[in-house]
Amino acid sequence: KSQGETHEFQAEVNKLMNIIINSLYSKKEIFLRELISNSADALDKIRFLALTNPALLGEGEQANLDIKIQVDKENHFLHITDKGIGMTKADLIKNLGTIAQSGTKEFIQKLTESADSKGSSNLIGQFGVGFYSLFLVADYVVVTSKNNEDDQYVWTSTSDSSFSIMKDPKGNTLGRGTRISLHIKDDSLEFLEQSTIEELVKKYSQFINFPIYLYSSKEVDAPEEEQVETPIEEQEDDEVKVGEEEEEEDEQEDEQEEEKPKEKKKITEWTWEKLNNNKPLWMRSPKEVEKEEYTEFYQALNKRTDSPLAYSHFVAEGDTEFRAMLFIPKDPPQNMFDPEAVLNGVKLFVRRVFITDNIRELLPAWLRFLQGVIDSDDLPLNVSREILQQHKLIGTIRKRVIKKFIQMVQEISNREDKAEYHDFFKKYGTALKFGIIEETGENKNRLIKLLQFASSKDDHTTFEDYVSRMKEGQDQIYYLGGKDKEQLAQSPLAEQALKQGYEVLYLVDPVDEYLFSQINKYGELQLTNLAREGVKFNKETNAEEADSEKAVTEEYKPLTDFLQKQLGKRVQKVVISKLLSDSPCILLSNTWGVTANMERIMKAQSN
Ligand code: ADP
Ligand code: MG
Repeated sequence: KSQGETHEFQAEVNKLMNIIINSLYSKKEIFLRELISNSADALDKIRFLALTNPALLGEGEQANLDIKIQVDKENHFLHITDKGIGMTKADLIKNLGTIAQSGTKEFIQKLTESADSKGSSNLIGQFGVGFYSLFLVADYVVVTSKNNEDDQYVWTSTSDSSFSIMKDPKGNTLGRGTRISLHIKDDSLEFLEQSTIEELVKKYSQFINFPIYLYSSKEVDAPEEEQVETPIEEQEDDEVKVGEEEEEEDEQEDEQEEEKPKEKKKITEWTWEKLNNNKPLWMRSPKEVEKEEYTEFYQALNKRTDSPLAYSHFVAEGDTEFRAMLFIPKDPPQNMFDPEAVLNGVKLFVRRVFITDNIRELLPAWLRFLQGVIDSDDLPLNVSREILQQHKLIGTIRKRVIKKFIQMVQEISNREDKAEYHDFFKKYGTALKFGIIEETGENKNRLIKLLQFASSKDDHTTFEDYVSRMKEGQDQIYYLGGKDKEQLAQSPLAEQALKQGYEVLYLVDPVDEYLFSQINKYGELQLTNLAREGVKFNKETNAEEADSEKAVTEEYKPLTDFLQKQLGKRVQKVVISKLLSDSPCILLSNTWGVTANMERIMKAQSN
């Protein structure tokens, strides 16, 4: 038997395989999730291409997109077959022999640097290890694949540093798609059990949107006409519900049949048993879906292990109809604000067909941590992604999704346990602020109401709280930006306001001061930065104060002149101010300039 061509794995692949085998040993069952998700991806791809060219699907059974699992106990093989897009010879070499994604490379780099194997197994779990996880349970793998553009090829590897590839001498038996045949290691024989496979598919792959079948045996009563006294040779009764498999595999299954004498004659029936309910969860009525199902769906969607902080499942009606299921994760991704990072939290479907998880127009950048699915009946199916993302309905969906997100946040803020919102705001507050800067109209106003700040009165002050505590006659909201609350509470800039009994918002998030200058007003109330010149505290006494200020300014002119001379270009001007009560002097910014706090932040960013 010819071995075909031999190729070396790319060095990173070897590294990844080693990491997987050494750190994921206790979670080896995840290989099945990985292989099924690859099959589902491949099916998504052919279905997407077929939107514009239905002929690509092929005819008859070939067009019934599904995943089939078959166990060969005698020879210790587990076969997973899909009718997905398949791989050409070049695809096999590239996709299974190299790691193309730079993100994966970086990830491996990080993993090899971290000595802590427990931490790394967590990382891998979240990341999704992919194809090579099969070596957790298999010592040998045969990948047979047929793409419309090429002949059928066979790729084999034993997880050492090389793989081999050859044209399939049996011809193009698959029609189109991929079969992964795992030779199961002796320590992993449980994966040849029907019950194990059923369990794992339930656990990990229940939300795959294609049917997953397992070739299963069941003891059933023989048909009436066979319940006769004289035992005759048992009849083969393979009822194949969906599709037909190649003959050679059926033969292997046949040998496992039992022939025990029984009172009532039994036969072993082999059928393709469907393991999943592939009606998408979001198509069900929100009233019927249990909380647990949402959590499981969320975890399956992007291979997460946490549970969502909040979710929303709704059917939008009106100018555009779509269904959506949205989740706010407990923790945002670390690279939430990295514009280069690809986050892909929300997947777009059109009439149940997966289209893309990478339409920038669908969600604003500040919402990139959001997870979920959106399924529209109104978007055109048979257009390219490029045309789709220009579609005006995408903009409509985007608006509705933002509104829904805000409702989810409002729901969190109304929860009895206030700590939940405090925690949410600590993690996502900056994202909301970017939302305020970017959005307009009602959404902007709704977001503003959700903001929380530390203040001289409370660590979690909303604008509404502030207003409810305002002094008689107060017509502005006072704030001051800086590094932390303690420093701000001590600042001479806050001195006078505090002394007069005004509440001061302490803005410690770097984006805050810019945000406030953008918002400018909350309702009728001016937002006043105490770090700028010209702060007035009381309307009524303004005229009187101006007079006395003039007098004091005159009196101290020699001092201010002297200081101005001494400080020279380092200050713009030296003035007498009533801003202070105890401290002798402070540095102020002029009305339009950069405050000291902003300067500190800009310096930190440019480093
Ligand atoms: P990922 O799925 O994250 O891309 P994997 O390691 O799981 O990484 O798979 C590597 C690549 O191999 C896939 O991107 C895909 O191109 C190819 N591949 C794996 N399994 C299949 C399959 N069943 N059908 C077609 N292509 C596949
Ligand atoms: Mg994969």
